[in-house]
Amino acid sequence: MGNPLRDRRTASEWATVGQVIEIAEKLESFEQLASIIEADLAALEADRIPPDWRDSVVAGRLAFGFADAQARVPAVECELAVTVDAVCQRCLEAFRLRLDTEAKLLLLELDDTADGYDEYEVWELEETTLRPKDIVEELLVMAMPFAAMHSDSAACKALSAEAGDKEEMTKPFAALRAQMMQD
Ligand SMILES: [Zn+2]
Repeated sequence: MGNPLRDRRTASEWATVGQVIEIAEKLESFEQLASIIEADLAALEADRIPPDWRDSVVAGRLAFGFADAQARVPAVECELAVTVDAVCQRCLEAFRLRLDTEAKLLLLELDDTADGYDEYEVWELEETTLRPKDIVEELLVMAMPFAAMHSDSAACKALSAEAGDKEEMTKPFAALRAQMMQD
């Protein structure tokens, strides 16, 4: 039995069997995502690139089914997460970036529309068959920020340097305020 992530079937076939796919796969098996991460890490000097960045585990779940009771509109619910290595655009240091995404997708053929499914996004099928892996990969690529940055400012060298400067600058005001309070 192969891994259903890599199988090709029509959207209706996936939906009809109610295929559920639990995912726990290394980043390296998602070539497109891996090449984006690799290009990002290339900004670092070779000895500072985390050696095991390809081993980050993509985890999550895809659940296929129909969005309507008449079983006409195939859909898939997706929950995905991975913590990748990235370069902070503020301080240019490597850091661990968590990507998290959830989506409910209507699997529609090109130029097809379906009204009344507001909680869904439309996923246009470019071919008659689809590979679940491609959905996983594209959702994670879309979840990547335009500029990755430390979210914890204490961990970001650029921000902690800035914070230091700011403290210096606010001191005169603090001193002035203390003086005014005394007066
Ligand atoms: Zn940073």
